[in-house]
Amino acid sequence: MKNIAVLTSGGDAPGMNAAIRAVVRTGLGSGLTVWGVYQGYSGLIEGSFKKLGARDVGSIIQRGGTILGSARCMEFQTEEGRELAIRRMKGAGIEGLVVIGGNGSQTGANALHQMGFPVVGVASTIDNDLYGSDITIGVDTALNIALDALDNLKVTASSHRRALLVEVMGRKCGYLALMAGIAGGAEAIVLPEIEVIPEQLAERIQDGYERGKPHAIVVVAEGAKYNAEALCKYFEEHDLLLGYEFRSTVLGYVQRGGVPTCSDRLLGTRLGSEAVEQMIAGNTGVLVGVSGNSVITTPLDEVVTGHKPLDPWFLKAADMLAR
Ligand code: ATP
Repeated sequence: MKNIAVLTSGGDAPGMNAAIRAVVRTGLGSGLTVWGVYQGYSGLIEGSFKKLGARDVGSIIQRGGTILGSARCMEFQTEEGRELAIRRMKGAGIEGLVVIGGNGSQTGANALHQMGFPVVGVASTIDNDLYGSDITIGVDTALNIALDALDNLKVTASSHRRALLVEVMGRKCGYLALMAGIAGGAEAIVLPEIEVIPEQLAERIQDGYERGKPHAIVVVAEGAKYNAEALCKYFEEHDLLLGYEFRSTVLGYVQRGGVPTCSDRLLGTRLGSEAVEQMIAGNTGVLVGVSGNSVITTPLDEVVTGHKPLDPWFLKAADMLAR
């Protein structure tokens, strides 16, 4: 193998740049030519790629987002779209592709692999909903940003004796909400994985008020049955939470664009570099991720069908510690 390409796809995640840099420099160090593909699978279809040198990836390890850009591309979900992408790559002499992204992106990578094109995936999404890696690139930074916000919100909530419903990202996965809620000392955490009964939640918050709590911070996962705004509305319409004034705050995209933490820079570096090693070794059709302290590979068809449950210990702890 002489030519490989790298792309970032789906939601951007802090640490993606570290992974791109590692792919490029590990590839160059192994005598490969490395192509950068712009705007994810769209760039593959449009032939929007260029050769990257070591200097092209200089001073990017500390930057959030992705220098290659990302996109959501419907055309790639069709067989014709993927055939065109393969033709474009073969036309440039590209023999292998590294896909840095989350669930959807790895589903696309698996589709390419099934069409006979060598692909290695790198686990990257702030949602941490990807099977095949305990933790994915971007999660640590997103969590730290959510935590900063929670710490600040707690101060103002206490001053005004307020209940704040703080919505965090994560799509259908409650990981970010659970971990941010525990580390931020939330009074309650609302997750997609656990049924929420607004009356019980209100009772719990009200109980805290009666026990002298100056605030209530409720962390709400965006994918929960009731999001922060819906819960506020429900409380209002049903005259619940009478002890507190309540407000909702949506953290939204601020969680995605941050400066990558040390952990995310190291994770991106480790996984990006390992993806190239796996490609050279011919171990393709796999996702590179971490399990405990080790880098592991998991076949992409297991990745796209697998489910990563929330750790029951943390679920129990969340309930026990929010007293
Ligand atoms: P994140 O969850 O962090 O946003 P993601 O990788 O899950 O990241 P998606 O938007 O779900 O993000 O997917 C990114 C891209 O992957 C899609 O725009 C599409 O081009 C491709 N993709 C998704 N599903 C498929 C599929 N079933 N077949 C082929 N390609 C797909």
